[in-house]
Amino acid sequence: MKPYLADPKKTKELLARHEFLIKKGYGQNFLIDPSVPEGIAAAAGLGPEDTVLEIGPGIGTLTQYLAAAAGRVIAVEIDRKLEPVLADSLQGFSNVTVVWGDILKQDIPRLLAEHGVTPPVKVVANLPYYITSPILMGLLKQADLFSSLTVMVQAEVGERMAAAPGSKAYGYLSVSVQYYAEPQVVLSVPPHAFLPQPKVSSAVVRLEALNGPAAPCRDADFLFAVSKAAFLQRRKTLANALAGYAPLGVSREQAEAALAELGLDARIRGERLSLREFAALSDILRDKTRLNDK
Ligand code: SAM
Repeated sequence: MKPYLADPKKTKELLARHEFLIKKGYGQNFLIDPSVPEGIAAAAGLGPEDTVLEIGPGIGTLTQYLAAAAGRVIAVEIDRKLEPVLADSLQGFSNVTVVWGDILKQDIPRLLAEHGVTPPVKVVANLPYYITSPILMGLLKQADLFSSLTVMVQAEVGERMAAAPGSKAYGYLSVSVQYYAEPQVVLSVPPHAFLPQPKVSSAVVRLEALNGPAAPCRDADFLFAVSKAAFLQRRKTLANALAGYAPLGVSREQAEAALAELGLDARIRGERLSLREFAALSDILRDKTRLNDK
């Protein structure tokens, strides 16, 4: 079956046929420009050997393209009111299974096993923007389940994910995402590609899953806390920002000593540190704060 739904007229007809009311609260913005789902499917590099985990199929627009390109699609959707709509739009796309529920509450290994799918799978999604970070971080923490993630996000969020040290967009999200995967912005998408139009521009990001963390460290959660501290007060020197973030339990003297051990300037700001430097700093600080506990 050929995809047909990425079209304003067909989308409106489908919504009207089922008297479906779009819910902003669920981040429902449906694609109406065929070049976008085509671009997403191409960026994901789908073939008949692939199983796709789609998040938020909505009315099934992107799902049709994924079903046409991949061997199988498992699509997780929270809004049960979409049941008759998806039954209609996915008629003839026999390789799609819709799972009803909240993606944030899914036990993904179990979900895949229940549907007879052996990881790794490819994640492809036009994400609900209100929960982009929790969804992505939840998935990336189980990166061995996925070979790649190709996702539509708010343009600014995509830029932050892929940002390099020293740039304005570099921050907590860059460090945490790049710890698990290699992100690349592959497509810019204007608001008029959606119905209804979002207020922001969008971007498709392809995240290539790594075989292991990009910069191994002993405690990933501590590393994320260190980078959170660094970017919460990014105008401060890193030593002051670390000391000013109580959950870390690091003094300014300890922070300065750790920076000296790494050969970094005592007045450096967090935005200058590479992921590797953050990981090394985190290991040193972890040891110093452990000594405090004793
Ligand atoms: N895939 C469709 C498209 O591209 O036209 C719709 C994408 S729309 C931006 C996001 C979809 O995610 C909506 O269908 C929404 O109901 C769904 N959604 C929102 N929160 C969710 C959650 N926690 N778990 C699963 N799906 C969710």
